[in-house]
Amino acid sequence: MLEICMLASGSSGNAVYVATEKTKLLVDAGLSGKRLAAALTEIGAEPTALQALLISHDHNDHIYGAGVMSRRYRLPLYATEPTWKAAKNRLGKIAAEHCRRLPLCGRLVIGDLLVETFPVPHDAAGPVGFIFRSGKQAAALVTDLGYVTPYILDRLQQLDCIILEANHDEEMLMNGSYPWPLKQRIKGNTGHLSNTLAAEYLRKILTPKTKYVILAHLSEQNNLPQLAYDTVCNRLEASGHLPGKQFSVQVARRHTPSCYLRLV
Ligand SMILES: [Zn+2]
Ligand SMILES: [Zn+2]
Repeated sequence: MLEICMLASGSSGNAVYVATEKTKLLVDAGLSGKRLAAALTEIGAEPTALQALLISHDHNDHIYGAGVMSRRYRLPLYATEPTWKAAKNRLGKIAAEHCRRLPLCGRLVIGDLLVETFPVPHDAAGPVGFIFRSGKQAAALVTDLGYVTPYILDRLQQLDCIILEANHDEEMLMNGSYPWPLKQRIKGNTGHLSNTLAAEYLRKILTPKTKYVILAHLSEQNNLPQLAYDTVCNRLEASGHLPGKQFSVQVARRHTPSCYLRLV
C-alpha cells in the first residue's frame, strides 16, 4: 500500500504526504510548521506520527517550514549534501542525529518504503526528484525542473503514479507581467516545465501500468488549473492516450490538500 497526498503545491509552498502501513513521510516543507500540521490533520494524518522529512532542494517554497518541523516533531531531515550547504542558515539548528544525507542519485530504505533519488536540472544546489516504492506500488514526484533528461524518462517508466510539474502556460508567461530575466529563468533549461512540455514528456512516460497523473507546482500568475488540465489531456489524446479511461489526470491544489491517492 502506498498513500500519497499533495498538501500544498506551487511557488507559495510545497509539501507531499507519502505513507505506507508502517512508514509516514513528509516530502518538502515549504509552508509554516503550523500550516503543515493543520494540513496533515485535515487529511487524518497525525504530524506526530511522521518518521522523516525529505527535501528535494533548497528553494524556500520547499524548505520554509523544514527546520521547525524537524525540531517540533523530532524528525530526521534528509537532504543532499549541496542542499544542506545551501539551506543551512535558513533551516536553523537541526539536531546532529537528525541531519541525514540523501544521495543525488541512489536509494535508501526508510521503514518499509524504498526511496530512490535522481538529479533534476533546476537552478538550485543538488536538486533531486523521487520515486517511492512499497510492495508492487510505485510513485514518482518530479517538480522544479527545466526539462526531463533521458535518464529521468527512463527512470519514470512502469510506475503507477506520476506527479509531474506543469508550471506555466507559455503564452501566459510571455504575455504576463514578470520581468524579462525572470521569464527567461522560468523558461530555461534549469527553470520549470510548461504545460506543453509536461504533456510531451508524459507521452513518453505513460505505460499501461500508470493509472494516476498529478499535475503539480502550477504558477499562480502564469497558469490556470483548467488550462493545465486541458492542455495536457488534449495533447495526450492527440497522441492516442485516453485520459479519464486509461488513467486519471488530477491537478494539485495550491493551498489546500488534494489528490489523495491510495495505491494498493
Ligand atoms: Zn518550487
Ligand atoms: Zn525550485
